[in-house]
Amino acid sequence: MAQRVEEMRNQVIRQHTKDIKHYINGNFVDAESEKSFENTNPFTNERINRVSEGDKPEIDRAVAAAKEAFQQGPWGKMKVSERLSYIHKIADVIDEHIEEIAPLESYDTGLPISQTKKMVARAAHNFRFYAEMVNSRMVGEAYQVDDEFLNYTIHKPVGVAGLITPWNAPFMLETWKIAPALATGNTVVLKPAEWSPLTANRLAEIIDQAGLPEGVFNVVHGFGETAGAALVAHPDVQLISFTGETATGSEIIKNGADTLKRVSMELGGKSPIIVFDDADFDRALDACTWGIFSFNGERCTANSRLFIHENIQERFIEALKERVQNIVVGDPMDEGTQVGPLIHRTHYENVKRYLEIAKEEGAEIVSGHVPEAYRRGNFVPPTLILNITNDKTAAQEEIFGPVLTVMTFREEEEVIEVANDVKYGLAGYVWTKDIQRAHRVAQAVDSGMFWINSQNVRDLRTPFGGSKASGIGREGGHYAFDFYTETQIIHVALGEHRIPQFGKK
Ligand code: NAD
Repeated sequence: MAQRVEEMRNQVIRQHTKDIKHYINGNFVDAESEKSFENTNPFTNERINRVSEGDKPEIDRAVAAAKEAFQQGPWGKMKVSERLSYIHKIADVIDEHIEEIAPLESYDTGLPISQTKKMVARAAHNFRFYAEMVNSRMVGEAYQVDDEFLNYTIHKPVGVAGLITPWNAPFMLETWKIAPALATGNTVVLKPAEWSPLTANRLAEIIDQAGLPEGVFNVVHGFGETAGAALVAHPDVQLISFTGETATGSEIIKNGADTLKRVSMELGGKSPIIVFDDADFDRALDACTWGIFSFNGERCTANSRLFIHENIQERFIEALKERVQNIVVGDPMDEGTQVGPLIHRTHYENVKRYLEIAKEEGAEIVSGHVPEAYRRGNFVPPTLILNITNDKTAAQEEIFGPVLTVMTFREEEEVIEVANDVKYGLAGYVWTKDIQRAHRVAQAVDSGMFWINSQNVRDLRTPFGGSKASGIGREGGHYAFDFYTETQIIHVALGEHRIPQFGKK
């Protein structure tokens, strides 16, 4: 096994970790400034490659190319069926490369390969899904008014779409935006996260291979405060779809205000999982463990706050303690690994700092183990924070690592109040066999999404997004279609209706 892992990793390194350039107007190009930054491997903290550092000049070139492709180029004038055939082609090329994209993603992010494989498959599905959806949704509505008028609506692409994405599940989350943006006829400038550039670059190569016309899809690598900010402020960018931290979302809304950007905000979370004493104990335990420790806990919908009913708390917490000791922490390229290293040393330090604060604030920390051989990596072992109250830092702030805060409750009303006493409202989960209570709790929790006796299974037709500080708007299904299109209303007179005759003698 170890030898196979090594071979797989070497192959990925050899083929796809050359220095990275921007993809602008169908060409891979360097930044005007010739500046670059280093990309590191979370497992060893060794350098992977260098990434050309884009800034305003690269954003300006990419937006100009995207604008031209939209207004003059073939994309804006192309038949919908032809455009959608390109979208299907992108899905096909992704499918052909799943076995290679997944290791690349794991190598760059530290996410376990068994989990990145599923995400890459979903990325291809995103393109097919939106191609189908656009086909069925390009119809408008018509209103006949008193035999005199016909009013009808049509849906048009908005123009140049600016997409800004995070480093957790980067490939899948990028395609989640790119697929509906392109399928509805927009052109795109993507600013991927600076900590996970490998698969964003691979995606540019894939889209290039699919043969999209020049300028339709562009990628500018770089930092948020420079390249990201330039994209947000650009007057020729009509919309920004953003996924990332809440504070960054606020900044983007402010900076996009002058040019009146349409925005979609998918932001942070601190989601509760509420387990009642009548729950299916084993399934609730599986769901709770998976929901916080999969994807290294770097997951926006992670159930990072457990509320466990006091009647079963002792047994449940004992079982959780056993789970965290047994979770397989290791090399993200190994199929058996359940938790890998965190994306970056800076993020690792942040998560560690939260654990220190929790200790200082009086909580008890119970952690699993990181094998000695992996000390060079950004490993935080699966961790429980016990004896904590909801007002404490670790219970309020998004830690975004494999860390679960555990609190107990007695009454339904009490747990809802505490579950809602947090600034976020992305997701929520309840485990109970009482169906009436399950629905009551689901509706009472402030969250954009809620799962009953289930763990994060979602159909692409359903909306995805958060309330409160977790976001504005929804992605997925027809919500994405609405965001990426402009609805135009056309009024037609069917006869010669009376028009006021101002100034007529
Ligand atoms: P981040 O906000 O630091 O960065 C996200 C992106 O924004 C990056 O590409 C970054 O370069 C860019 N950026 C940063 N500052 C910017 C600015 N001033 N202007 C324009 N762009 C800027 O987020 P992250 O650390 O990469 O990702 C983790 C966060 O994302 C977590 O909070 C997580 O909950 C959230 N997230 C939310 C969802 C969701 O759907 N709700 C999904 C995944 C991740």
